[in-house]
This record gives sequence, C-alpha cells and structure tokens, in this order.
Amino acid sequence: MIRDTEGFGIFLAGLRKFVREELVPQEKTVMESDAVPEKIVRQMADNGMFGYSIPEQYGGAGMTTEELVMAAIELSQCSVAFRARVGTNTGIGSEALVADGTPAQKEKYLPRLASGELTGSFALTEPDAGSDATALKTSAVRDGDHYVLNGTKCFITNAPIADLFTVMARTDPAQRGAAGISAFIVERATPGLSTGAPYRKMGQEGSPVSEVHFENCRVLAASLIGGVEGVGFRTAMKVLNKQRIHLAALCIGPAIRMLDEAMRFAITRRQFGQRVADFQLVQAMIADCQTEIHAARALVLETARQRDRGEDVSLPASICKYFASEMCGRVADRCVQIFGGYGYIADFGIERFYRDVRLFRLYEGTSQIHQLNIAKRTLAASGYA
Ligand SMILES: Cc1cc2nc3c(=O)[nH]c(=O)nc-3n(C[C@H](O)[C@H](O)[C@H](O)COP(=O)(O)OP(=O)(O)OC[C@H]3O[C@@H](n4cnc5c(N)ncnc54)[C@H](O)[C@@H]3O)c2cc1C
Repeated sequence: MIRDTEGFGIFLAGLRKFVREELVPQEKTVMESDAVPEKIVRQMADNGMFGYSIPEQYGGAGMTTEELVMAAIELSQCSVAFRARVGTNTGIGSEALVADGTPAQKEKYLPRLASGELTGSFALTEPDAGSDATALKTSAVRDGDHYVLNGTKCFITNAPIADLFTVMARTDPAQRGAAGISAFIVERATPGLSTGAPYRKMGQEGSPVSEVHFENCRVLAASLIGGVEGVGFRTAMKVLNKQRIHLAALCIGPAIRMLDEAMRFAITRRQFGQRVADFQLVQAMIADCQTEIHAARALVLETARQRDRGEDVSLPASICKYFASEMCGRVADRCVQIFGGYGYIADFGIERFYRDVRLFRLYEGTSQIHQLNIAKRTLAASGYA
C-alpha cells in the first residue's frame, strides 16, 4: 500500500538521486577502507534513512511494506555496505521492538533508532545453532529484578558498531526448541557484553560483522521484550517474516545495477568488429537477467501488498527470499560473464557485487531452509500431506 502516491514518487526520485550522486561515487572508498564514511552516515541519518520502517509516532517514516520494499529497491542499487549500515535499524535491529515491545521499550529506544543515534542489531545465530536456530544455548536466568545472560552469538551484522542488541536467549532450560526462548533488548554498555573483532569476509566490505559474547551479563527484567517469557522465538519469526520480503527487495537493487553496468560495458566493448551487446548470445544473458529481475520485483511487490492487507505471508515471504536471492546470484554470474576477463578485475566493480551478493543466499535462512519451508507449507496446504 502506498499512502500518498505523489509524495512517495517525489521521495523515491530524491532517494535515487542521493544513491547516484552521493553513494555510488563512494563505493571504492568504502571497499578500500572497509567502512562507510561518517559524513555519509550523517547524511543518511539526516535523510531519515534509519527510520523507514519505524512508526511515525516514534520518529520514523512508518513505511508500509510496499513502500519499504520500493525504497529498498532504490537504496540497494549501490554497494551493499550502504544499505547494511542503515539496514539493521530499518529491519532486524528494530523490528522486535516494533512488533512486540512494551510501550516503555518502544518509547525508550525507537526514536533513537529512527534518528540513527543508536545502531541496532539482531543476535539469534550461535556457533551450534545456525539453520537450527531453536537449538540456541545462550541462557538468561532470572535473578530478582534482573536476568543474567551467558553465551556466544556469531555472525551478527553491525555488532562491532551496534549500540543495541536484540538477543534471543533461553529462559527455560527445561524446554527444548522454541518454547523456552525469550527476546531481550541489551545495551552495549552493559557489563559482561563484548563483541569480537570483525570477521574477514568474502565481500560486503564496510559492513562489519562479529561475534557477541555474554559473560554474566546482567540486564534489568524490563529488558525482556514484551515483558513475556517464552515467546521470543515467535517474536524472531515475526521479525524474519517481514525481513524476508525486505531482503528480497534488497536483492533486486543490486541485480538492476549489475545489469545496468553489464549493458554499459557491452555497448562500448567491441570484438569481431562489433559491439558485444550485438551478439545474440550476450543478448540472451541480458534477456534472462531482465526477465528474472522483473519476476522478482512483481513477486516482492505483490507479497508486500498481501502483508499490508494483513494476510498471512509465511509462504510467499519465503518464496520471495528464496527466488530473489538465487536470482541475484544468477544475474551476478551472467554480468561477470558479459564483462569477460574484465569481470574478474577489481577495477571494474562488477566483481565486488559478485562477492557481495553471495551472502544473500546464506543468511536469513539459507536457500535450502527456504526450500524446505516452501515445500512443507505447500504440501500442508495441498491436503495430501
Ligand atoms: C555475513 C553474515 C551476516 C549475518 N548476520 C546475522 C545477523 O545479523 N544475525 C543473526 O542472528 N545471524 C546472522 N547471520 C547468520 C546466518 O543467518 C546463518 O549463517 C545462516 O542461518 C546459516 O547458518 P549456519 O551458517 O550455521 O549454516 P548451517 O546451518 O550449519 O548450514 C550449513 C549447510 O547445511 C544446510 N542445511 C542446514 N540444515 C539443513 C536442513 N535441515 N536441510 C537441508 N540443508 C540444511 C544449509 O543450507 C547449508 O548449506 C549472518 C551470517 C553471515 C555469514
């Protein structure tokens, strides 16, 4: 749902201009320095980019799902690091509070997440609990007015720079699986919380990711999200269901950009006395990229509208994430191919996208986990299962 078509069109045009004029020229700097420059972070904060999905009453833009995915498609047409910098606040790092926070928790944190004063993060994965997230072992033991957290989270996006951590921990060790898990909001300054050194990664330079350690980390009982124990995994799934549509949109922007770069190259590069864009085998790759981008965009927009209508999107959200992330990988591969040998050379930029987008098929549910989920739900709905 678009609340104000004309106003939103103006917003999108402004965002497109910002991406092209301010972010794209900084891509090489971000890759080489492995950081998004502070000046850009401030500009993004001034433009309200940390608060897209946070309700207006807490200082955000209160975007509908459809608005959020359209903004995401624009914002992601540059290095992944830029949108990853704001992305935890507009997604997994704030959504647990938006969905299930108490009024006091929302009041305390959401305005500062929306303004970019605080950077949020979402800490679910553990060394022995990746795809099988309900196997998590981090414990949260009630002690009077506090909970004491112990455990290690790994692969946490923005952890090295985060001020706030949404943490899934087990409050009931007797319960296995999802039932004993609760969600907490933990401030970085809390004694007993520390983060590891940023990982050295395949790509996405400028988007820091690390472990998070809890050693007798004592938080107030008021840090329990929603004030209810045992529903933390349900909260996490609410976050991830929305995020899967959002992430699918964030796969479409890079695919659009890569195809654009590949076409610009193919029009200027000449072999056998003609532009490589004129070879029909190259055109087939362009056509396949464009077709898949269109299919992903239509799928994501329709699913976003379904969510805005209040429909259950558990199945289509999974389909979106699976299809769009795999699509982006195929587009990256074809675009490197269109560049020929230059596609393998860092100066031409396309290899950076190729490395950056590889992650999309791994996090927020691997492709295999989404295949299982899609098949399980499809079989259940068929009535044959
Ligand atoms: C850069 C980066 C950033 C991340 N950011 C975050 C974050 O901010 N917060 C967070 O909580 N997590 C984050 N993650 C973690 C990410 O969500 C996990 O890596 C992902 O869920 C997969 O878990 P795993 O790495 O343990 O792989 P595993 O679960 O060990 O999977 C290994 C392989 O086995 C396959 N597999 C597993 N189970 C099955 C099955 N039942 N059937 C078939 N195949 C299966 C997988 O598909 C995969 O191919 C991030 C990861 C990375 C790399």
